[in-house]
Amino acid sequence: MVAEFSREAKSTLCVRLAIVWSSLSPTRVKHTSSLTSGADMVDAVTPEKRSWIMRQIKGKDTRPERALRKLLHAEGYRFRLHRNDLPGKPDIVLPKYKVVIFVHGCFWHGHECQRGRRPKTNEDYWNRKLDRNAERDRMTQEACKNMGWKPIVVWECEMKRNSLAVLDRLRADLPRVEN
Ligand SMILES: [Zn+2]
Repeated sequence: MVAEFSREAKSTLCVRLAIVWSSLSPTRVKHTSSLTSGADMVDAVTPEKRSWIMRQIKGKDTRPERALRKLLHAEGYRFRLHRNDLPGKPDIVLPKYKVVIFVHGCFWHGHECQRGRRPKTNEDYWNRKLDRNAERDRMTQEACKNMGWKPIVVWECEMKRNSLAVLDRLRADLPRVEN
């Protein structure tokens, strides 16, 4: 639980920094260039949306990930977070079962769902970027398997739709914990 707390604290700090950054940037941009669209965009969003954007960029400690950790913990499963000695720094590591869980954002990891749809503008750019992400995910999962770990991907949209169904699905690989 200590690790959880420090992550929350880091996340809060990150949001604060984002707010400071966005309140400074219009001034900075005014003096340097007329291309203010990026800063304007960040400025136009609510603090909640801004912190969401920052979390997506950071790619760690997202809401679906926290929700899944909470569910697993309540079920008695014990895990480690973001172990960086494993390929792809898995979001949740269950050493007892040799299972690693990646909680993927649908957009960045190219899920075939509404949220995973690619933008229609700058198509080449996005195709290159998102193809690269998908390839990296594939290689990461392969590397986990080669090290004897079973990789499981949980999608952001699955967690939003029905997190208990996700838990049911995971139970197939995680035998019941006796408390
Ligand atoms: Zn999805």
